[in-house]
Amino acid sequence: MSQQSGVQQTPNAHNAAVTHALPSYLQADHLGPWGIYLQQVDRVTPYLGHLARWAETLKRPKRALIVDVPIQLDNGTVAHFEGYRVQHNTSRGPGKGGVRFHQDVTLSEVMALSAWMSVKNAAVNVPYGGAKGGIRVDPKTLSMGELERLTRRYTSEIGIIIGPSKDIPAPDVITNEQIMAWMMDTYSMNEGATATGVVTGKPIDLGGSLGRREATGRGVYTVGVEAAQHLGLDISKARVAVQGFGNVGGIAAKLFAQAGARIVAVQDHGGTIYQESGLDANALLAHVGRQGTVAGFPGAETIDANTFWDVPCDILIPAALEQQITAANAHRIQAKLIIEGANGPTTPAADDILQSRNILVVPDVIANAGGVTVSYFEWVQDFSSFFWSEDEINARLVRIMKDAFAAVWEVAAEHRVSLRTATFIVACKRILHARELRGLYP
Ligand code: NAD
Repeated sequence: MSQQSGVQQTPNAHNAAVTHALPSYLQADHLGPWGIYLQQVDRVTPYLGHLARWAETLKRPKRALIVDVPIQLDNGTVAHFEGYRVQHNTSRGPGKGGVRFHQDVTLSEVMALSAWMSVKNAAVNVPYGGAKGGIRVDPKTLSMGELERLTRRYTSEIGIIIGPSKDIPAPDVITNEQIMAWMMDTYSMNEGATATGVVTGKPIDLGGSLGRREATGRGVYTVGVEAAQHLGLDISKARVAVQGFGNVGGIAAKLFAQAGARIVAVQDHGGTIYQESGLDANALLAHVGRQGTVAGFPGAETIDANTFWDVPCDILIPAALEQQITAANAHRIQAKLIIEGANGPTTPAADDILQSRNILVVPDVIANAGGVTVSYFEWVQDFSSFFWSEDEINARLVRIMKDAFAAVWEVAAEHRVSLRTATFIVACKRILHARELRGLYP
């Protein structure tokens, strides 16, 4: 993609209107996640020093593939779905990022998610660029057979740009270990050789990694403890509220509870529960395993969904969906610390309100990077065909998360900026330094 307008640009966050930075094919579609991402890049550009001359690189996906995914439905008819794989940046290594199956998936959303993966991977300093994929489909409408055919055809279509040393997909919304197994098998069949390293988040018996399933929640807990120390907040006395009690929120809550914290409120798609004395996280996990929701947990009070944001607590963990903390509720939040387990749970307007209220936000691009960090371990183990113990994996994960948090904290203090902006500064400098070292081809 052309660099012509970028390399000479001056590093001023405010003189480049977002619309001018957009590639022409997105001029009319600039208000969604990609527009937010571009604003985030503009915000860090003044801190990039001489590397700002390469900042335009960050504003353009390196490569974006749109694929038609036709499948035969169980009733004999043929349905077409639109799929994407975007490689935002590969300066530091192969593309890496999940695949989302959801009815709202769009190209510009996948572009933004791929860019945030570049930032996340650079923030924790794993040797990857950023990528993301998706299919616009409501998977609930498909049978297992249809889902498998959809996954296999999509994998075949994007097979021209993915591979263990090119771009390594992983699970995201709705996609899981089984879908990764089908992706690995399809790619391997087309290549004529088993290539376990083409995806991560696989079942353990197909080259998956121990600790991967818990990794994101463990990372949330690890950076939470680090941030709490800086605030002088004693975890063993802290009250924690968690939105989303799935893979990320459930594991994070369990680890905070193990450290003595009280899990006072939990919200999921089915209800919101409150218990001032603290919910039993293990019993709640078992309840969700049986009932599919936290609603109806014995002994807990049921509260209104909107009241969740007023709950007296010290730590708030949004671990469900995007855009949950908004200008409408940010002024009501009681927590001193927010740790973003979900991707994009806080809108930019809410971010400003939280900052003005002195509430510390550990942003998604570092807080939930535990998942991709253990995905990196999985890929390394697949390459060497030598598998580590869960203790080794957890110890390496904790070290990477702590180091990454410390680097971001230092930059935030130096420039007096939020942890989100500091994470972008650290990550964008790493990406653009690699860009500069590699130079322009030809
Ligand atoms: P999950 O499906 O395991 O759990 C999602 C939880 O959110 C469930 O408890 C669900 O009930 C709840 N939820 C859904 N709709 C809700 C609503 N309207 N209100 C309140 N709660 C609602 O998903 P997950 O893997 O835990 O992912 C959660 C978030 O973390 C997502 O934003 C995801 O992108 C992000 N994330 C996940 C990982 C990972 O490794 N799983 C890594 C990085 C980021």
